[in-house]
Amino acid sequence: MSDDHRVLLLGPPGAGKGTQGDRIADRYDLDVITTGDALRNNKEMDISELGLEYDTPGAYMDAGELVPDAVVNEIVVTALADADGFVLDGYPRNLDQAEYLSEQTELDYVVFLDVPEAELVDRLTGRRVCDDCGATFHVDFDPPAEQGVCDDCGGELVQREDDTEETVRERLRVYAEETEPVVEHYRELGSLVEVSGEGTPDDVFDRFVDVIEN
Ligand code: ADP
Ligand code: ADP
Ligand code: ZN
Repeated sequence: MSDDHRVLLLGPPGAGKGTQGDRIADRYDLDVITTGDALRNNKEMDISELGLEYDTPGAYMDAGELVPDAVVNEIVVTALADADGFVLDGYPRNLDQAEYLSEQTELDYVVFLDVPEAELVDRLTGRRVCDDCGATFHVDFDPPAEQGVCDDCGGELVQREDDTEETVRERLRVYAEETEPVVEHYRELGSLVEVSGEGTPDDVFDRFVDVIEN
């Protein structure tokens, strides 16, 4: 397969973007660019010189709010410079970011992963991630072989600080307000492909492969 697929993954928190993004990247030998992971690795970065509400990315994340565009745009432009083919997950999350992205790169596929809101809350509050390698599991829908232990590396599985029900509700509200217009924007451009995110991760992945290969 060629390595020049440039895939944008859109969808609400908990839709399965991370899960599918990893699989797509493996299958097609692409880099994964995930702003959420990049920000989690820089939660304590001092951004006080921006003079905005909070002084670190982590403070925005734990509140369920978007991290300021200046911080996120910088992460994305650096990651794009190093990538040929990529799966971009978690960005753009508002219309200004979408405009910035359009100045940085072309996209081959814009895929919207569609999951009903009621299921998102269950997916997010049951999510567990590996503290060492970042692999994602779910207590009911994708349990590890041994409870609390990563199948991939043996690391400890933890709950993300923003995966509590209260913060999940706020993230879904922010998604509806800031990110749904981004989905609309790509829909109007005629470049949006919608994929149902229901069913097992294998079912969903088959739908993705179908989009990319047909
Ligand atoms: P996102 O990156 O869109 O926030 P994740 O890929 O982290 O979503 O998935 C959210 C949670 O839902 C994780 O716990 C994951 O294991 C689980 N999950 C992913 N895909 C499915 C699916 N098709 N059915 C049920 N649960 C899923
Ligand atoms: P999920 O897909 O489960 O919502 P992510 O890991 O993508 O979670 O993002 C976690 C948090 O990181 C978001 O709630 C937000 O605070 C921050 N974040 C991630 N991507 C962006 C972005 N493009 N713009 C602003 N904030 C972001
Ligand atoms: Zn692990």
